[in-house]
Order: sequence, then C-alpha cells, then structure tokens
Amino acid sequence: RQDIGKITTGTNCLDTLFDGGVETQALTEVYGEFGSGKTQFAHTLAVMVQKPKTEGGLDGGVLYIDTENTFRPERIVSIAQAHEMDPEKVLDRIIVARAYNSAHQTLILEEAGPIIEENNIRLIVADSAVGLFRAEYLGRGTLSNRQQKLNHFVHMLSRIAETYNCAAIATNQVMASPDVFFGDPTRPIGGNVVAHTSTYRIYFKKSGKKRIARMVDSPHHPEEEVIFALGEAGVMD
Ligand code: ADP
Ligand code: MG
Repeated sequence: RQDIGKITTGTNCLDTLFDGGVETQALTEVYGEFGSGKTQFAHTLAVMVQKPKTEGGLDGGVLYIDTENTFRPERIVSIAQAHEMDPEKVLDRIIVARAYNSAHQTLILEEAGPIIEENNIRLIVADSAVGLFRAEYLGRGTLSNRQQKLNHFVHMLSRIAETYNCAAIATNQVMASPDVFFGDPTRPIGGNVVAHTSTYRIYFKKSGKKRIARMVDSPHHPEEEVIFALGEAGVMD
C-alpha cells in the first residue's frame, strides 16, 4: 500500500482546516450553496496538485469531470500565474471530461483506469457529482433509483481514489429552496449518499465577500472553521 499524499490548497487557512492538505486515497465532499466557491476550490486544487512535492503538490495530473460546463481554462491560467507556474504546462496536465448525462458521467469513471495510469493522475474532480442525477431523476417515484445510481458513482470514485492513490473531490450544491426529496434546505441534495461514502466533508458558506469553510464530522482535524477568500489565485487567504 502506497503512502497517503496531501495536496496543498495554496492557502494557509484551508491547509490548516485540512491538516496539511487534501488527502489521496480519500473522497472529499465539498458542499455549499451556489457561488460559495466549490468550483474555484476544485480549479485551485487542479493547479496545486501539479506542484512538486517539495512545494506541497504531488507532481501529478488531473482528471476533471465537468458536469455543469463550469470548467474555465482562463481561471486555470490565472491561478497558475498567481502561483508562478507555467500556465500552458498546467493546462496540458488537466484532462477535462465533459459529462452530458449521469450515465455518461458514470461511464467516464468506469473507463478512467488506463487514463489515470498513463497520465500520472493524482486528483480526480467530479464537479458536480450530484447535479446530473438530480436533474434526471425527478419526482418521488424514481428516488431510490436515483440514490442507487448515485451511490454506484460515488463508491466507484472512492474505490478509484484508493486503488490509484488519488485525491477525489466531489462537489454537491445545497439548494436555497427546500429540497423536495429531503424537505430540509440545510441538507445537501443526495447528501445521504455522498456523505456516507466520503472520508471528509467540507461545507462552504458565503459571508459577505468572504467565505467560511467548515470541516464537518471529522474528529481528528485541529480546526473546524476557517475564513477564506476567492480571487485571481483561486481560493486565497
Ligand atoms: P460554486 O461552484 O460553489 O457555485 P464558484 O466556485 O463558481 O461557486 O464561485 C463563484 C464565485 O467565485 C463568484 O461569485 C466570485 O465571487 C468568485 N470568483 C470567480 N472568479 C473570480 C475571479 N477571477 N476573481 C475573483 N473572484 C472570482
Ligand atoms: Mg460550481
């Protein structure tokens, strides 16, 4: 079994929250409302994982499963420049897989093994992990079907993270309006499924121009809440 790796977030505050960085062989769920910074966090990690180990990275590539068409190369360029990295090289090591529906999203992961090995992938992002499942399975009648399919996806993500010594990030949006399935607006959609499989769960919250990140349900992390910012460098102190 390989040693667990950690990816710096590029910030002191979030590194403290994560006790050093985002771990490999683990699934980290990031949930929060629209605009809370989930995608910016994922973009930042996609850059930071490429840093050499001496600088908190894993010298690795990225598989970025984009289900909401929110991957932005220009954000990667900006974040890379802010961290004094070559933007072209950084973009080259991010494999973006645009998922068109939940079955396609699942297929991408089912076929990811060789891609991970050939490209030394050390970070897998599913942004969003849940959105397509939510959109396609509407109404109570299909709830268990949805949960089953989402469960399959999330378990596979977790297993791949362990097998290939990758960090896996699954984003999950909290609805501002009450969720028809769970009836509780403070709980993430599909939260039961993703939460049960996740090793770590982070909650992002807007607070004026700042953001609050909370480590949820982790007994061995030193801090439970930190304040961070969003900007040119992605997530920032
Ligand atoms: P989520 O994925 O949680 O819905 P995002 O990660 O897309 O949210 O965050 C969107 C927010 O990120 C914007 O509202 C803005 O505050 C901030 N943001 C995005 N790009 C930039 C930028 N280049 N400079 C500063 N802030 C930015
Ligand atoms: Mg997003």
